Amino acid sequence: MPQTTADANKPAPSNNFLRTIIERDLAQQGQPGQPERHFAGTPGDAAHHAAGPLDAAKIRTRFPPEPNGYLHIGHAKSICLNFGMARDYGGICHLRFDDTNPEKEEQEYVDAIREMVSWLGWDWNQSGTSHLFYASNYFDFMYRAAEHLIEAGLAYVDEQTPDEMRANRGDFSRPGVNSPFRERTPAENLARFREMKDGQHADGAMILRAKIDMASPNINLRDPALYRIRRATHHNTGDQWCIYPMYTFAHPIEDALERITHSLCTLEFEDQRPFYDWLLGHLANGGLLAHPLPHQYEFGRLNLTYVVTSKRKLRQLVDEGHVSGWDDPRLPTLVGMRRRGYTPASIRNMVEATGVTKSNAWLEYSVLDGCLRADLEGKAARACAVLDPVKLKLTNWAELFGSLSHVETSSAPAHPQVPELGQREFQLGHEVWIEREDFMEEPVKGYHRLYPGNKTRLKYGYVIECTGCEKDADGKITAVLATVVPDTKSGTPGADAVKVKSAITWVSVHEAVEAEVRLYDRLFTEAQPDSGDADFLSFINPNSRKVVTAYLEPSLAGVAAETHFQFERHGYFVADRHDHQAEKPVFNKITGLKDGWTK
Ligand code: ATP
Ligand code: MG
Repeated sequence: MPQTTADANKPAPSNNFLRTIIERDLAQQGQPGQPERHFAGTPGDAAHHAAGPLDAAKIRTRFPPEPNGYLHIGHAKSICLNFGMARDYGGICHLRFDDTNPEKEEQEYVDAIREMVSWLGWDWNQSGTSHLFYASNYFDFMYRAAEHLIEAGLAYVDEQTPDEMRANRGDFSRPGVNSPFRERTPAENLARFREMKDGQHADGAMILRAKIDMASPNINLRDPALYRIRRATHHNTGDQWCIYPMYTFAHPIEDALERITHSLCTLEFEDQRPFYDWLLGHLANGGLLAHPLPHQYEFGRLNLTYVVTSKRKLRQLVDEGHVSGWDDPRLPTLVGMRRRGYTPASIRNMVEATGVTKSNAWLEYSVLDGCLRADLEGKAARACAVLDPVKLKLTNWAELFGSLSHVETSSAPAHPQVPELGQREFQLGHEVWIEREDFMEEPVKGYHRLYPGNKTRLKYGYVIECTGCEKDADGKITAVLATVVPDTKSGTPGADAVKVKSAITWVSVHEAVEAEVRLYDRLFTEAQPDSGDADFLSFINPNSRKVVTAYLEPSLAGVAAETHFQFERHGYFVADRHDHQAEKPVFNKITGLKDGWTK
């Protein structure tokens, strides 16, 4: 059953190591000796699921964002991977807010994340059931799991200071040193842990740690922290708790309660996998969690060149005013990319194109832009826009047509290959806006547009012959002069009798729609601004945003915000989500018609 409406017809997915794993696991399902996977319809412990039916979902994956910031292009990879695998293998993907950290999380982010997952084309509702979960709803179980580990002699309360703990952890070349509190009895630990929960100790006074091996070569197994004391109001549970689970303890439990089969995460969690398995194994042995247990698999992160994707650095750019907000069109946040005009399909296709590998990937904007062009080429309406205008005066207009106010009507298809999009109409009058670069007083070799004595075609209109220009006192060209060549109007018999080597775009002065057009370049001058020793802010491109006053053809008056266009010869543009209004149109440039990044 497809979990998305927008993505249902995409081409057969390419093979990758995760597909190989999932296909292997599916082949083993139901075989003798394989535990049956029951699902009670809601997350829960072993007893809860044992009472439920066999899980109808073949696999379960999850996208588990922490609601402490806005999603970025890297998250899109994780979203498309998790939802895509569930769709492709008859499974279900959960959207789970990993909200176990009380301080940094806010409802604003929860709402923004939901909106962006939907915008990308994915749905956590399936067959009328929502699969939207909050890790903070599992705090009771997590507490029970912690007490179980204590009673089993697998966890202890450590009262060393943070500095002592750090020093005693050792490092890659030195084994750790056991805490003096490590050999307390389970009863002592249980009493202490309950005091922690009851608020009898100060923040940071002690923590609960797993009791594994302080000499393990994997530092993550040197008695990792499970619970800390933190008096902070949680956005979901309020002041109910003053102890909170650590991410490494909480995450595997969340997966198991939700009966996730394949827990897909990024490579930096590879060293955490032994603890993931240790924890779930012990809780299952104790009868708290049901078999089969989830398994963690790691894939490479996706990074984009010339931007940063760390939430902390994105926040710094926003807070210090280097960009206009989280949705600044130069940012790789999904709200920013949406505002810039990237479509959900272009982002999904880009993720698909980069594949799933075991190494972190650096993606060029040009790949994303290629996916955007591929998506919009066949569907975005065409329109004329003059971005760097200079006036062209047709000096024989009154003589030819009997009056200066005469207008000729032209028409062109909204899309040359999609007649269903209809025709656009516009008028030619005695003055039109053209691009400044379409005139050269002294042409360079190979220049075929306007220069004195040369002919060109006003696209969809007449052939004209340039006769000169007007200049101001500083020598700046204020108008280009030309005459209309009679009987050459496009679409009329004999129009091609006069041969020209070029056609230029234009918009008539009398009906031009004035608009603000925002042109964007890379936000940073370095491909990997945060990889070296230097402050990433020193690589900010001071010219990454340029605003021009442009003239648009009348078909662009009153279009809805977020409508995409191909401005003829310029590239792809979108009506700005927030600032565009019928009375004051605002468009963003998404990308050019060809790859402009490599020039
Ligand atoms: P950041 O490091 O930017 O703050 P994060 O990993 O802390 O991101 P989470 O909200 O924890 O953000 O991420 C949710 C999910 O998205 C996790 O499973 C994480 O592994 C995945 N993810 C985050 N960044 C990337 C990336 N660049 N490429 C692929 N997946 C990513
Ligand atoms: Mg994280």
